[in-house]
Amino acid sequence: MPITIRSERCPQNHPCPALRVCPVSALAQSGLRAPTVDERKCIDCGKCARYCPTGALQSSDGRA
Ligand code: SF4
Repeated sequence: MPITIRSERCPQNHPCPALRVCPVSALAQSGLRAPTVDERKCIDCGKCARYCPTGALQSSDGRA
């Protein structure tokens, strides 16, 4: 199960910094909206979940 995006936790007012930490470029962002995840690419490494300070990216096992 890949990462879950909780868009209600994202202020959606900034370029998402988590895009840079994803090792497989699975995250994308349209404008300043909450990011989206390409479930075919995501390896559920949890890096983005640990990186996002508002908890908008949630790993399936509840990390971060
Ligand atoms: S869990 Fe890892 S692979 Fe999946 S979107 Fe986040 S950083 Fe990328």
